Amino acid sequence: MDELMNYEEAVSRFDPVIGLEVHVELSTQTKIFDAAPVVFGDEPNTDIQPVSVGLPGSLPVLNQAVVEYAIKLGLALNSKINPRSRFERKNYFYPDLPKAYQITQNANPIILGGYLDVELEDGTPYRFPIEHAHMEEDAGKNTHVGAADGRLAGAKYSLVDYNRAGVPLIEIVSDPATGVGANAPEIAGAYVRGIRDIVRALGISEGRMERGNIRADVNVSLRESPDAPLGTRTETKNVNSFRGIENTIRYEIQRQAAILAVGGEVQQETRNYSEAISGTLPGRVKSDADDYRYFPDPDLVPVICPPEMVEEIRAAMPELPAARRARVQKEWELSDEELRDVVNAGALDPIEDSIKAGATPAGARKWWMGQIAVYAKDNGIELEEAPVTPENVAELDGLVASGKLTDKLARQALDGVLAGEGTPSEVVKARGLEVVSDTGEIEKIVDEALAAQPEVLEKIKAGKVKAAGAIVGAVMKATRGKADAAQVNKIILERAGVA
Ligand code: ADP
Ligand code: MG
Repeated sequence: MDELMNYEEAVSRFDPVIGLEVHVELSTQTKIFDAAPVVFGDEPNTDIQPVSVGLPGSLPVLNQAVVEYAIKLGLALNSKINPRSRFERKNYFYPDLPKAYQITQNANPIILGGYLDVELEDGTPYRFPIEHAHMEEDAGKNTHVGAADGRLAGAKYSLVDYNRAGVPLIEIVSDPATGVGANAPEIAGAYVRGIRDIVRALGISEGRMERGNIRADVNVSLRESPDAPLGTRTETKNVNSFRGIENTIRYEIQRQAAILAVGGEVQQETRNYSEAISGTLPGRVKSDADDYRYFPDPDLVPVICPPEMVEEIRAAMPELPAARRARVQKEWELSDEELRDVVNAGALDPIEDSIKAGATPAGARKWWMGQIAVYAKDNGIELEEAPVTPENVAELDGLVASGKLTDKLARQALDGVLAGEGTPSEVVKARGLEVVSDTGEIEKIVDEALAAQPEVLEKIKAGKVKAAGAIVGAVMKATRGKADAAQVNKIILERAGVA
């Protein structure tokens, strides 16, 4: 077991620096260098063509959509688009890489520099620096069978699926992010979430971490102080959950601090994230001498992105997450804190969809952030997984606005929707929830209640208007909560001649 220093002590004694290499799988129709389809979850080795499996004599042809997607991403990340980038071969042997080289970009990537502004849950801003991003092909997938933990060591045999070989990736490589302090884990999480939101808004990736659409290599180092040179880093490979990214950084800070505190040296190595220990385990020792023998791929011409092409794509950019947040804050009249709550709850999409379906901003926000959020929390699901649609919420909001439902009845109607009893109006009908809006009928019930409690009527007449509450209660009971309490109160006061 690793020696770990208490986290608070570690971040007070050392200055953490993090660097992220984020791989985004693009949702193009076909692969980056051939016409094999990009589909998740197909039978192994069915989505392949000669190029995907590296058959001798097969030649790669660049998928133009990949270049367009890369330019969109570059623009969203405030980067410069390289007018002339180039593919290179990164040579190494592994069974999931049938050519024994990966086609990637190295010296001349398509996206140069840039940054992403992120915000922590409490509103603290951080500008995450980006070094470059490049296009490359994904490798296939090895499955090692027979070892307890699914790793190669101890496996009886291994299976290879080439469906993923040649799926287009963009790898976004950050600069070392400094000045992160104790917030290092949260800043990294916010950065990768920010990338996920951007690729979804751009429609260039499904951005689903649980499917491996986004994976991160997480680099962490410590140094004595912010003006000391960067310390030796470890790189934890292929972390594919937000929790994993945050746990990796937290753990590495605690582990490296324990080593440095006793005068030890951090090994430069690649590590693997372990869900079981919420931390990292050693992988292979990595030296700077890793030699991939990069050289320009002679099968592919340089990628030319003329300014006209970039400008054309810029003009057609969809609304990005930051602009959207600013817009809805204004349209929905939210304070900074209210907006943060909505964003943190993952309620932006459902609220906006409900408004499109006819709800008022205030109504949509109230239902999604209130009763539905509670339901989602109780059931351990995401807001959008709750069994209620934006159309349901719009309908519910309309029923309240038109006075057909009181707030209380609307809550019952939503309970019914969440229980799978149908749309709000179906639930209202089946459960008999509709407000008694017939004034004559309510007056009749009020008169009956007053007749049953004449002493209360006398009190009201004598000026004790608060006594009317008892009659309102009786009317609500008689109508099983389906009367409008304010209306009932008004009628009572009229009857007592004090209105
Ligand atoms: P490699 O060539 O080994 O992949 P890079 O120089 O490309 O290394 O860096 C990989 C990632 O590690 C980048 O995101 C970079 O910002 C980050 N990084 C580099 N040095 C450090 C360090 N000392 N501490 C933390 N992160 C670092
Ligand atoms: Mg690198």
